[in-house]
Amino acid sequence: MSKVIVIGNGPAGVSASLYLKRANIDVINISMKNSALLKAKIENYYGYIDVDGKTLYENGLKQLKDANIDMIEGFVQKIEYQMDSKILVSVDDKDYISDYLILALGSPLKINPKYKGFLGSGVSICAHCDAPLYKGKELNVTGSEPYLSDMVKELSLYSDNVSIIKESDIQRLEGEFSLERIVYKDGEVKSTNNLFLALPVSGNRLYYELGLVVDDTGYIDVDDKYRSTIENIYAVGDMTAGVHQISTAVYSGMIAALDIIKEAKKSA
Ligand SMILES: Cc1cc2nc3c(=O)[nH]c(=O)nc-3n(C[C@H](O)[C@H](O)[C@H](O)COP(=O)(O)OP(=O)(O)OC[C@H]3O[C@@H](n4cnc5c(N)ncnc54)[C@H](O)[C@@H]3O)c2cc1C
Repeated sequence: MSKVIVIGNGPAGVSASLYLKRANIDVINISMKNSALLKAKIENYYGYIDVDGKTLYENGLKQLKDANIDMIEGFVQKIEYQMDSKILVSVDDKDYISDYLILALGSPLKINPKYKGFLGSGVSICAHCDAPLYKGKELNVTGSEPYLSDMVKELSLYSDNVSIIKESDIQRLEGEFSLERIVYKDGEVKSTNNLFLALPVSGNRLYYELGLVVDDTGYIDVDDKYRSTIENIYAVGDMTAGVHQISTAVYSGMIAALDIIKEAKKSA
């Protein structure tokens, strides 16, 4: 039977994991402990008069445990789609392999709207993914510490000419199909085809490295079954555009799981 990795133990990840396990699918849940729920006080969820998010979150963990779902606590640093169509997920020093992956990583970092339309077309959040494209050329980077220094270090592996641009100096980006110019607030214009954004290592970076298509605001593109643009990889909950509430997270986790159950049974 197929194996599924679910990353995230907020409402979306727990819902997906429970549906899969109840259909006898081999599921591993990998998560850190920092759901958006931990900050919430809930007054609008069916069946609860008034509940704090922490209680709901802890109930979710208990449900995973009671269902005997393999729970790995850790920070996922890398996801790779392999030649044999298996998916590799690396946590600390350990690798896990699965046939399907459900990403339930919560809200992505917001990308500043001034970079709108250029992410993946000259604007990059991943030095080692995209800097090789500009090897030996001038590389431009913007952002704040401590991420800025890390990215400058990474970019320096690909070019001796790395320029740091103060984010508050950038008025807008211009280009017909991809980045062609950075327009500064003082009216000066820099012709360039690249700008790297130094952001915290986050879910965004994981799925950017994986090559998933995201919209301008950083949400992962999915279809009505929460399938991403990469085969057998799903994205659910706050990572996708739409209403960001517990009920929508639980719903999307269920729909993705049901789709996997259907597909897995076909190939069993
Ligand atoms: C202050 C506040 C109040 C809210 N109030 C309400 C409300 O009243 N009603 C309501 O319905 N909704 C409310 N919400 C929204 C609700 O909390 C979210 O919509 C819901 O938690 C989203 O669930 P999720 O599973 O998509 O993401 P999350 O609950 O954020 O879970 C994300 C999971 O991904 C894991 N993760 C992320 N990156 C990694 C990684 N690299 N490696 C391993 N694990 C990772 C995290 O550890 C976590 O387990 C509120 C949110 C906030 C912030």
